[in-house]
Amino acid sequence: MTQAAVPKAPNFIRQLVAEDTRTGRFGHRVVTRFPPEPNGYLHIGHAKAICLDFGIAQEFGGRCHLRFDDTNPTKESQEYVDSIKGDVRWLGFDWGEHLYYASDYFEQLYTWAVQLINGGQAYVDDLTPEQLREYRGTLTEPGRESPCRTRSIEENLDLFGRMRAGEFDEGTRTLRAKIDMASGNLNLRDPVMYRIRKATHHRTGDTWCIYPTYDWAHGQSDSIEGVTHSLCTLEYEDHRPLYDWFLDQLGIHHPQQIEFARLSLSHTVMSKRKLLELVEGGLVSGWDDPRMPTLAGLRRRGYTPEAIRDFAERIGVAKADNLVDIAHLEHCLREDLNRRTPRVMAVLRPLKLVIENYREGQVEEVEAVNNPEDPAMGTRRVPFSRVLWIEQDDFRETPPPKYFRLSPDAEVRLRYAYIVKCTGVVKDPRTGEVTEVRCSYDPTSRGGDAQGRKVKGTIHWVSAPHALEAEVRLYDHLFSVPKPDEAEDWTSVLNPHSLTVLTGCRLEPSLKAATPGSRYQFERQGYFSVDSVDSSPSRLVFSRAVGLRDTWAKIEKGGR
Ligand code: ATP
Ligand code: MG
Repeated sequence: MTQAAVPKAPNFIRQLVAEDTRTGRFGHRVVTRFPPEPNGYLHIGHAKAICLDFGIAQEFGGRCHLRFDDTNPTKESQEYVDSIKGDVRWLGFDWGEHLYYASDYFEQLYTWAVQLINGGQAYVDDLTPEQLREYRGTLTEPGRESPCRTRSIEENLDLFGRMRAGEFDEGTRTLRAKIDMASGNLNLRDPVMYRIRKATHHRTGDTWCIYPTYDWAHGQSDSIEGVTHSLCTLEYEDHRPLYDWFLDQLGIHHPQQIEFARLSLSHTVMSKRKLLELVEGGLVSGWDDPRMPTLAGLRRRGYTPEAIRDFAERIGVAKADNLVDIAHLEHCLREDLNRRTPRVMAVLRPLKLVIENYREGQVEEVEAVNNPEDPAMGTRRVPFSRVLWIEQDDFRETPPPKYFRLSPDAEVRLRYAYIVKCTGVVKDPRTGEVTEVRCSYDPTSRGGDAQGRKVKGTIHWVSAPHALEAEVRLYDHLFSVPKPDEAEDWTSVLNPHSLTVLTGCRLEPSLKAATPGSRYQFERQGYFSVDSVDSSPSRLVFSRAVGLRDTWAKIEKGGR
């Protein structure tokens, strides 16, 4: 496994597992699992769970299974299975030979259900889904017992067998556990174990027309696999007594369930239902749209697995839900990319700069540092010539106060090259827009500040005849408010400016060799990656992963 050696902070899960390995409760073994339902792509919340499940196993010399909880054939598909496997691997984790599917246990689960019927602990109910809801009661009122609750074991066995054989229509019958309709815990009010679904399953095909509920499948699947610690999110805390009840009735291996708070991230949504709605409604370009909180989207955006694992470790685990600022995630990416990516010069909104006293046709190569954070990354040569592209923002005809870039008669350093002085502009006679900035250069000022000449501003540039052209996509938060889930209509708070497409951007020629997915810092602009879907040698497309301004570092400082 390729895991950076980050020191692990103690947390309540680590402590519980450490205690169990110390006492030998599970024979000193640690087996965990990550149990996604293949009904969507994985998101950053799942990444937190993956890092915990695989991380804990790794730390204690155990193993972690990947198990698909594929009990709902109408919403699941092979596409999701494949994407989930790819995403877990990309994050840097490996389940080895321990790939499982709840659907592999359908026969065993059926046998156990029959066992419960025989023990008088389960019965076939004829209530409709509406009636089931009605009979269930509320938090303040006890539920009512179904008239079918007293059915004989023989009748239950017969009906359950016929449910399996496909004799009944969807919604006409269920198998329920016989527990306690007056329980204060709604999960214990005779929960449904099987429902009829005449649907084709992506793995078992048409073998089954009754499917176990998640509640009936989950704990038993963990047990079959010998899971010792079953980590899950807080909403399953109230299900734990039910899982315990099932395991105790069956008398099989009993894993320890431990709940932790799910990750909520600001300025995005994380429910798979909502993410699916974004995709199907065409509100984003797909599951891998770089604005999505999915791992596929983050990867395409330029996120590294290292940054995501670091984020998961830093946010830690807690027993109470809280909202994590998306700036924290961006901070982790920035830190990682700052160390690792080469820096290059790219002009996103080009304006022509002509150096009047530089000989036409002359080309010099200036030496540029690839990454000042890492001298081992070396230097490269960047061509310099009479006509350059600079950023429109780096020139003002009427400069505001404290503007240290180019303006008439002002001087600026061209990064790694000469100091230039603005001598005039060329304007579009029709619109009055500045189309070209003219300047002269000081031939003695090349490189650093050898002559002791100090100028306040340094700007980046690209030599016009050598420049590559590219499309650059700038992304902002998908939602314009921190908690879109709390808006009356969550789609109404989508950020209309979440994507800006710039065409005709100019890049230094070293980027010719940039391969899809590779990442760079564009000096003064942020971190960018070559779009893995739309970029090709004939049409370069870059995505901005994250800007340079670190709002999280500021928040953190302010908090101290
Ligand atoms: P949804 O709530 O959108 O229906 P889910 O979160 O239940 O989806 P699963 O595929 O069941 O999706 O999740 C697999 C595992 O990932 C579960 O163990 C779940 O607890 C964990 N998980 C899901 N979302 C988060 C989150 N936001 N933070 C931490 N863990 C999560
Ligand atoms: Mg779930």
